[in-house]
Order: sequence, then C-alpha cells, then structure tokens
Amino acid sequence: MRAYVMINEDLCKGCEICVNQCPTNTLMIAEEPNNKGYYPAVQITVEACTGCRQCAIMCPEVAIEVKLVR
Ligand code: SF4
Ligand code: SF4
Repeated sequence: MRAYVMINEDLCKGCEICVNQCPTNTLMIAEEPNNKGYYPAVQITVEACTGCRQCAIMCPEVAIEVKLVR
C-alpha cells in the first residue's frame, strides 16, 4: 500500500516528532523554512509509506493528513 502524507507547512513547527516516529523513514525535514521560520517536515516518497498514520496521530500541531493511494 502507498499513501500520500500531506503536511500543512503553515501549521508545522519542525519538531521532528513525525520524522522520528515513522517506521519506514518516509519523512524528513525540509531544507527551506516556512513563512514562520520553521523547517517543516516533508514526505520523501509515497512508495515506502504504509499509511499507518502514526505521524498524523503524534503530530502536536495536527498538521498531517494521510491519504491512501488505491
Ligand atoms: S503514514 Fe506511517 S509510514 Fe507513512 S509517513 Fe506517516 S508514519 Fe510514516
Ligand atoms: S510532528 Fe507535526 S509539527 Fe512536528 S515536524 Fe511533524 S508535521 Fe511538523
């Protein structure tokens, strides 16, 4: 299964919790900051993502939405 992880850059504070929580190492921190100066999380690839939603559940800013690819 593959999934898209949509991260709301405006809400993300770059805490890296989702990056560290992901069991498939699908997320990373971006090299460019968002409008508030935080470095947001981004999805590296949809191929490895299982859609487990652990990242979305753990995000303290509720900035992540997971969409399964059918
Ligand atoms: S849904 Fe699961 S596998 Fe996909 S990025 Fe989030 S924690 Fe990682
Ligand atoms: S857990 Fe949420 S706030 Fe923290 S880096 Fe990930 S998306 Fe951003």
